[in-house]
Amino acid sequence: MSAGQVAHTGPLPRDARIYVAGDRGLVGGAIRRRLEADGFTNLITRRSAELDLRDQAAVRTFFREERPEYVFLAAAKVGGILANSTYPAQFLYDNLMIATNVIHAAHESGVRKLLNLGSSCIYPRMAPQPLKEEYLLTGPLEETNRAYAVAKIAAIELCDHYRAQYGADFISGMPTNLYGPGDNFDLKGSHVLPALMRKMVEAQEAGAAQVEVWGSGTPLREFLYVEDLAEACLYLMEQVSEPGPINIGTGEDLTIRELAELIADVVGFEGDLVFDASKPDGTPRKLMDVSKLTGLGWSARTGLREGIERTFAWFMQERAAGNIRS
Ligand code: GDP
Repeated sequence: MSAGQVAHTGPLPRDARIYVAGDRGLVGGAIRRRLEADGFTNLITRRSAELDLRDQAAVRTFFREERPEYVFLAAAKVGGILANSTYPAQFLYDNLMIATNVIHAAHESGVRKLLNLGSSCIYPRMAPQPLKEEYLLTGPLEETNRAYAVAKIAAIELCDHYRAQYGADFISGMPTNLYGPGDNFDLKGSHVLPALMRKMVEAQEAGAAQVEVWGSGTPLREFLYVEDLAEACLYLMEQVSEPGPINIGTGEDLTIRELAELIADVVGFEGDLVFDASKPDGTPRKLMDVSKLTGLGWSARTGLREGIERTFAWFMQERAAGNIRS
């Protein structure tokens, strides 16, 4: 069967059986809320304590029993630069197992369509910018997240080869750095945006004059609001069927220093930023080329300041409710 024969495009039936893997996380949570808001009535979710996606037998049984028709694969072990470089074995093993088990079980149980989610760190460290989809596997990866990236590349390969060999309609979306409601604000595991937001709120409350920013402040990063991502995921599920990664981003980036200044402005932190050169910078730049997705008909709409303001409102609410661990 050729790739052209396996395309399932068009609106998803509102009563379709849809499994959102990873719905307790930043991405899966936003996808679940988007689907609920759009009137999908048959969503399937599991907490990791109920279904360990690294357990092949458990995953196979779950797919046999639940028979999802569509799968959003947003379950992953994720973290910021420190967590990625400290626990590379877990990032590789967990993500390889999750991808292999879910993609294979989806194939075996006849899932109509699956969207696999990856990351912009799959591209070579020194690839030309902005990053085009065709740069995949053209050079060495960034060291601080190589383990995670290799697992995410393997997941794209699985989708493409299951499409080629079995005619499975499995597609891969590659989001840039994400942020928004539901993010991880634990400083040891979090990404830069929630980390700086939390540090600034706490510094302000403590009357501290400084906040520490890791690295030199010069790396460039692109940030996509997670609710825009959720919209893009549904768009891809309904409109797109093709092999290979599809970048999901805004097409704009800024330095970590500029990001810190913007967050300070939103939070109202007026102290100094102190750059800690003993912490890693990571990759110098990873700006997505989003012309493929724009050409397919989708682009991001939430500006960075607006997204940070909404995230800040959510964070303060969660904090007041006692939901943010110290
Ligand atoms: P990355 O995009 O995979 O490198 O992930 P991160 O979001 O963890 O880090 C992005 C950049 O922000 C890196 O250059 C970090 O060194 C920098 N950064 C500055 N302060 C912080 C912080 O408090 N936490 C994190 N995670 N990164 C920070």
